[in-house]
Amino acid sequence: MMSDSFIPISKPFIGPREKELVIDALDSGWVSSIGKYIDEFEANFARYCGTEYALAVSNGTTGLHLALATLGLKPGDEVIIPDLTFVATANAVAYTGATPVLADIDADTLCIDPSSVKSLISARTKAIIPVHLYGHPADMDALMEIGNAHGIAVIEDAAEAHGAEYKGRRVGGLGKCGVFSFYGNKVITTGEGGMLTTNDRDFHARAKRLRDHAMSPQRRYFHEERGFNYRITNLQAALGVAQLERIDDFLSRRAEIMDWYNAEIVTSDRVRLNRVKNWAKSAFWMICLEVDGFDEAGRDAFMQALKARGIDTRPYFCTMSSMPMYRQPPLPVSTRKAQIGLNLPSFYELTKQDVRRIGAEVNEILKEMRAA
Ligand SMILES: *Cc1c(COP(=O)(O)O)cnc(C)c1O
Repeated sequence: MMSDSFIPISKPFIGPREKELVIDALDSGWVSSIGKYIDEFEANFARYCGTEYALAVSNGTTGLHLALATLGLKPGDEVIIPDLTFVATANAVAYTGATPVLADIDADTLCIDPSSVKSLISARTKAIIPVHLYGHPADMDALMEIGNAHGIAVIEDAAEAHGAEYKGRRVGGLGKCGVFSFYGNKVITTGEGGMLTTNDRDFHARAKRLRDHAMSPQRRYFHEERGFNYRITNLQAALGVAQLERIDDFLSRRAEIMDWYNAEIVTSDRVRLNRVKNWAKSAFWMICLEVDGFDEAGRDAFMQALKARGIDTRPYFCTMSSMPMYRQPPLPVSTRKAQIGLNLPSFYELTKQDVRRIGAEVNEILKEMRAA
């Protein structure tokens, strides 16, 4: 790669094995939502997560909605979610008619703060959705304790955290269920796609029925309730099978890239990269940079300066509480993080030279801005 070529924030890696399996799926004629690759993808993914079941779905958003519909969420119910997440978490709750209730986040993990969750529990609370943000697992023991004490289901939004571990256990099997995304920039991709993991046999059976319009098993084309078409295609599943074969390789490269960044970027109390708890193994889906000296305009100017030097970045997600659909008074930690945080490039083919160049530019621009 030329040293001054443009470095994107993210890029999928599609190898010969991916092409081989997708072509095989095409040649088989099973292009739609029946086919051997779907069964194989589900079985392999469940084994990978250490769960009894995995159900492939059309994307992560539909996976979240399916999980909530399977639990029977309805108008009047409340679901506690973090204020800082991708909007799909909140939207999926709203699709059921239930109300997303916004909790603040932990300043280190960027994941939902259990003490904030505790303060928001009401008689209407039916579920908690921790998001393993940017690949770092949420503090699941504390959340499960709250959930168990009140009989509330905990749904892991693991869309960004394939292979991440909490106290040595892979995410996806820690709560009632886990939801993964295979969008093009996620840890592994199927183009569009998702997976719903669980150890609960009845939950899985009901989710599977709802995924396919809740067709009666006894009577074809008779439907006792309103379901969905949230199926994945065999073509996408073929891509997923190939991607999952090399997930260990993808994840170790992500960890290596994190190490390179830690070595290159001059950090301090006020300039931070990803923090990882001693009980966590992060998937490092995104490299996170926070600068305390920033305000939102300063952060955006910094990103502009990097772009002018050929380096793509993206800001942290906006808080849910700042959006018209979910507007409420700002929460302190999530609001601050959303102003000062950004993501740096990380993808399989990013080289150590690239990270060296990015690190040098980051250090130089920060010095120029005197934000550090
Ligand atoms: C990507 C993502 C989703 C949604 O996944 P899609 O497959 O894009 O629908 C949900 N939650 C989080 C936290 C995500 O990052």
